[in-house]
Amino acid sequence: QADTAMYKAKESGRSGFHFYRSEMQQFATERLKMEKALHHALERDELYLVYQPQVNGQGELIGFESLVRWLSPELGPISPAEFIPIAEETGLIAPLGEWVLMEACRQLRTWQQVVGLPASFKSLAVNISPFQFSREDFVEQIQYVIDSTGVDAAQLDLEITEGMLVENIKAVAAKMYALQHRGIRFSIDDFGTGYSSLRYLQHLPLDQLKIDQSFIRDITEDPNSYEIINTIISMAKHMKLSVIAEGVETNFEENILSSIGCHRFQGFYFSKPLDKHTATQCLIEKKRFPLQLNEVSTTS
Ligand code: C2E
Ligand code: MG
Ligand code: MG
Ligand code: MG
Repeated sequence: QADTAMYKAKESGRSGFHFYRSEMQQFATERLKMEKALHHALERDELYLVYQPQVNGQGELIGFESLVRWLSPELGPISPAEFIPIAEETGLIAPLGEWVLMEACRQLRTWQQVVGLPASFKSLAVNISPFQFSREDFVEQIQYVIDSTGVDAAQLDLEITEGMLVENIKAVAAKMYALQHRGIRFSIDDFGTGYSSLRYLQHLPLDQLKIDQSFIRDITEDPNSYEIINTIISMAKHMKLSVIAEGVETNFEENILSSIGCHRFQGFYFSKPLDKHTATQCLIEKKRFPLQLNEVSTTS
């Protein structure tokens, strides 16, 4: 009987192994397909940006975060959480990141010059990837985009992550100060999940911390998350930084956050990311968020 059990275990172990291997193969094939398709995505116009509202305590629009989307004709819609890392590893992030910056700044310039932005509006945020930021010509690249789009850079907010700040702090500071000089602001995305030294943070021209959504997710159940958020908020106050909560999904979460001093929000409770037409419409109609039920707009 023991023998039989052993035999069975081996069998299932083996088939488990085969299963595992074919999973791996399939994964590799899928990835290769995606890599190839991503090569063409830019030329074939398959990428576009959506804009997620950021609001104050009154529900007024204080900004948008631009988020890239890829609709591949062969593979369907693919999340940036999936293709941005691939773009990073393959170097495709260089042209992709440039395209995102250019497109976001073109849109911002249109809003600034043609549509008009409300007084509450502070900035359009653009995500910067580690590879982009580490490039020696990063400052020149941003300047090129600003100059060629004619955008007012004082309303441009670059989102970087803690990880980008730990290496070669001198070079990092030099880049950030050069861009701050042009009016650009910096936010730290996913704050609390990385390893940034508070001492470094103090010496960089930062404008805002974005509390990572994993803390917001747990705020109601996990006293630790609540305490971490509390600490981030009071630290931000000491450092004279703004703080915004991302991933706010309920009114309850908003209330807890504002009770501990966070008055900037981004998340599905207020609005999902909007396509550019809907975002523009919200500006024109000076919408407040969350939108009323009868005016819920197309989301993506
Ligand atoms: P992120 O910069 O932290 O962006 C926030 C992500 O959270 C977005 O996912 C957004 O749609 C999602 N989100 C917003 N509110 C909520 C909410 O209430 N609940 C939940 N569950 N999720 C919410 P998305 O658009 O899929 O982007 C994922 C990540 O991909 C981004 O995280 C960012 O790291 C990266 N990414 C997106 N667009 C770009 C880009 O243009 N350039 C670069 N380099 N990275 C980008
Ligand atoms: Mg972001
Ligand atoms: Mg984030
Ligand atoms: Mg993120």
